[in-house]
Amino acid sequence: MRCPFCGDLDNRVVDSRMARDGRAIRRRRHCGACEQRFTTYEEVEHTVVLVTKKDGASEPFERDKLVRSLSIACRKRPIPYQVLADWAQELERMLKVTPRRAVQTVELGDKSMAFLRGLDHVAYVRYASVYRSFDSVVEFLDAIRGMDADAGKGSP
Ligand SMILES: [Zn+2]
Repeated sequence: MRCPFCGDLDNRVVDSRMARDGRAIRRRRHCGACEQRFTTYEEVEHTVVLVTKKDGASEPFERDKLVRSLSIACRKRPIPYQVLADWAQELERMLKVTPRRAVQTVELGDKSMAFLRGLDHVAYVRYASVYRSFDSVVEFLDAIRGMDADAGKGSP
Protein backbone atom coordinates (compact mmCIF):
# COMPACT_ATOMS: atom_id res chain seq x y z
CA MET A 1 0.00 0.00 0.00
CA ARG A 2 1.47 3.32 -1.09
CA CYS A 3 1.64 6.11 1.51
CA PRO A 4 -0.70 8.97 0.52
CA PHE A 5 1.74 11.54 1.93
CA CYS A 6 5.09 10.58 0.49
CA GLY A 7 4.26 7.72 -1.87
CA ASP A 8 6.57 5.29 -0.16
CA LEU A 9 5.67 1.62 -0.05
CA ASP A 10 7.37 0.95 3.27
CA ASN A 11 4.61 0.99 5.86
CA ARG A 12 3.23 -1.36 8.46
CA VAL A 13 -0.15 -2.05 9.96
CA VAL A 14 -0.40 -0.75 13.51
CA ASP A 15 -4.07 -1.53 14.11
CA SER A 16 -6.81 -3.61 12.45
CA ARG A 17 -10.46 -3.63 13.34
CA MET A 18 -13.86 -4.51 11.95
CA ALA A 19 -15.74 -1.78 10.15
CA ARG A 20 -19.00 -1.33 8.26
CA ASP A 21 -20.84 -3.98 10.27
CA GLY A 22 -18.14 -6.55 9.73
CA ARG A 23 -18.08 -6.15 5.98
CA ALA A 24 -14.75 -4.39 5.97
CA ILE A 25 -11.51 -4.25 7.89
CA ARG A 26 -10.15 -0.86 8.81
CA ARG A 27 -6.38 -0.71 9.08
CA ARG A 28 -4.20 2.02 10.53
CA ARG A 29 -0.85 2.10 8.83
CA HIS A 30 2.37 3.77 9.77
CA CYS A 31 4.70 4.96 7.04
CA GLY A 32 8.33 4.14 7.72
CA ALA A 33 9.57 6.87 5.39
CA CYS A 34 7.67 9.99 6.53
CA GLU A 35 6.32 8.70 9.86
CA GLN A 36 2.74 9.68 8.95
CA ARG A 37 -0.25 7.49 9.72
CA PHE A 38 -3.08 6.71 7.35
CA THR A 39 -6.13 4.48 7.17
CA THR A 40 -7.11 1.86 4.62
CA TYR A 41 -10.27 -0.18 4.26
CA GLU A 42 -10.29 -3.73 3.05
CA GLU A 43 -13.68 -4.89 1.81
CA VAL A 44 -14.91 -8.42 1.40
CA GLU A 45 -15.81 -9.11 -2.17
CA HIS A 46 -19.34 -10.44 -2.44
CA THR A 47 -19.11 -12.50 -5.55
CA VAL A 48 -21.33 -15.38 -4.60
CA VAL A 49 -24.82 -15.40 -6.04
CA LEU A 50 -27.24 -17.66 -4.23
CA VAL A 51 -29.88 -19.74 -5.93
CA THR A 52 -32.95 -20.26 -3.76
CA LYS A 53 -34.89 -23.43 -4.36
CA LYS A 54 -38.62 -23.99 -3.96
CA ASP A 55 -38.14 -25.66 -0.57
CA GLY A 56 -36.26 -22.59 0.68
CA ALA A 57 -32.80 -24.12 0.58
CA SER A 58 -30.15 -22.24 -1.31
CA GLU A 59 -26.92 -23.08 -3.06
CA PRO A 60 -24.24 -21.05 -4.83
CA PHE A 61 -25.01 -20.23 -8.44
CA GLU A 62 -22.96 -22.41 -10.76
CA ARG A 63 -22.57 -21.08 -14.25
CA ASP A 64 -21.26 -24.39 -15.60
CA LYS A 65 -24.33 -26.19 -14.33
CA LEU A 66 -26.59 -23.71 -16.11
CA VAL A 67 -24.63 -23.98 -19.37
CA ARG A 68 -24.80 -27.77 -19.11
CA SER A 69 -28.57 -27.73 -18.75
CA LEU A 70 -28.86 -25.39 -21.73
CA SER A 71 -26.57 -27.47 -23.88
CA ILE A 72 -28.62 -30.58 -23.14
CA ALA A 73 -31.69 -28.75 -24.44
CA CYS A 74 -29.70 -27.60 -27.48
CA ARG A 75 -28.30 -31.03 -28.33
CA LYS A 76 -28.02 -31.54 -32.09
CA ARG A 77 -29.41 -28.07 -32.69
CA PRO A 78 -27.39 -25.55 -34.74
CA ILE A 79 -26.39 -23.50 -31.71
CA PRO A 80 -22.74 -22.88 -30.90
CA TYR A 81 -21.77 -23.75 -27.34
CA GLN A 82 -20.19 -20.31 -27.04
CA VAL A 83 -23.57 -18.61 -27.45
CA LEU A 84 -24.84 -20.45 -24.37
CA ALA A 85 -21.66 -19.81 -22.40
CA ASP A 86 -21.73 -16.11 -23.24
CA TRP A 87 -25.33 -15.75 -22.21
CA ALA A 88 -24.74 -17.56 -18.90
CA GLN A 89 -21.74 -15.35 -18.22
CA GLU A 90 -23.76 -12.23 -18.90
CA LEU A 91 -26.55 -13.49 -16.66
CA GLU A 92 -24.11 -14.19 -13.85
CA ARG A 93 -22.65 -10.72 -14.23
CA MET A 94 -26.14 -9.21 -13.97
CA LEU A 95 -26.95 -11.27 -10.89
CA LYS A 96 -23.75 -10.19 -9.19
CA VAL A 97 -24.57 -6.53 -9.50
CA THR A 98 -28.12 -6.86 -8.17
CA PRO A 99 -28.19 -5.77 -4.52
CA ARG A 100 -29.69 -9.03 -3.25
CA ARG A 101 -27.25 -11.28 -5.15
CA ALA A 102 -29.80 -14.05 -5.05
CA VAL A 103 -32.08 -15.62 -7.57
CA GLN A 104 -34.86 -18.17 -7.32
CA THR A 105 -34.67 -21.36 -9.33
CA VAL A 106 -38.01 -20.42 -10.90
CA GLU A 107 -36.60 -17.09 -12.05
CA LEU A 108 -33.52 -18.80 -13.41
CA GLY A 109 -35.71 -21.25 -15.28
CA ASP A 110 -37.88 -18.47 -16.69
CA LYS A 111 -34.86 -16.49 -17.84
CA SER A 112 -33.39 -19.58 -19.47
CA MET A 113 -36.66 -20.36 -21.21
CA ALA A 114 -37.00 -16.79 -22.47
CA PHE A 115 -33.47 -16.99 -23.81
CA LEU A 116 -33.99 -20.34 -25.55
CA ARG A 117 -37.33 -19.25 -26.89
CA GLY A 118 -35.63 -16.48 -28.83
CA LEU A 119 -32.89 -18.82 -29.95
CA ASP A 120 -34.39 -22.12 -30.98
CA HIS A 121 -37.92 -23.45 -30.56
CA VAL A 122 -36.93 -27.10 -30.29
CA ALA A 123 -34.44 -26.31 -27.58
CA TYR A 124 -37.03 -24.19 -25.84
CA VAL A 125 -39.64 -26.95 -25.75
CA ARG A 126 -37.08 -29.48 -24.53
CA TYR A 127 -35.93 -27.19 -21.77
CA ALA A 128 -39.40 -26.11 -20.79
CA SER A 129 -40.75 -29.66 -20.65
CA VAL A 130 -37.96 -30.76 -18.37
CA TYR A 131 -37.59 -27.65 -16.29
CA ARG A 132 -41.16 -26.71 -15.77
CA SER A 133 -42.23 -30.39 -15.75
CA PHE A 134 -45.57 -29.39 -17.14
CA ASP A 135 -48.48 -30.18 -14.85
CA SER A 136 -50.76 -31.11 -17.67
CA VAL A 137 -50.78 -31.86 -21.36
CA VAL A 138 -52.96 -28.79 -21.85
CA GLU A 139 -50.33 -26.55 -20.33
CA PHE A 140 -47.72 -28.06 -22.59
CA LEU A 141 -49.89 -27.60 -25.67
CA ASP A 142 -50.58 -24.00 -24.66
CA ALA A 143 -46.87 -23.36 -24.58
CA ILE A 144 -46.43 -24.83 -28.05
CA ARG A 145 -49.40 -22.89 -29.38
CA GLY A 146 -47.86 -19.73 -27.96
CA MET A 147 -44.70 -20.50 -29.90
CA ASP A 148 -46.63 -20.97 -33.12
CA ALA A 149 -48.29 -17.60 -32.62
CA ASP A 150 -44.89 -16.04 -32.10
CA ALA A 151 -43.53 -17.73 -35.21
CA GLY A 152 -46.48 -16.41 -37.23
CA LYS A 153 -45.74 -12.81 -36.27
CA GLY A 154 -42.60 -12.79 -38.38
CA SER A 155 -44.23 -13.89 -41.63
CA PRO A 156 -46.11 -11.53 -43.96
ZN1 LIG B 1 4.94 8.34 3.92
